[in-house]
Amino acid sequence: MKFDASTNVSVANDDGSVQFLCPACSKGMIVRSKVSRQIVVKYVCPHCGFEGPN
Ligand SMILES: [Zn+2]
Repeated sequence: MKFDASTNVSVANDDGSVQFLCPACSKGMIVRSKVSRQIVVKYVCPHCGFEGPN
């Protein structure tokens, strides 16, 4: 089960969701739902605390 990094909403059935490694440390896996991308909600890396997208 995967959850959006910002809203903690499950993205299991979200075909617009994405996941990628943190651009700062390349170790934290960040999951973003389609909605979070559309409204450009911030995410925080669980590994290093990096905030994006900025
Ligand atoms: Zn990070």
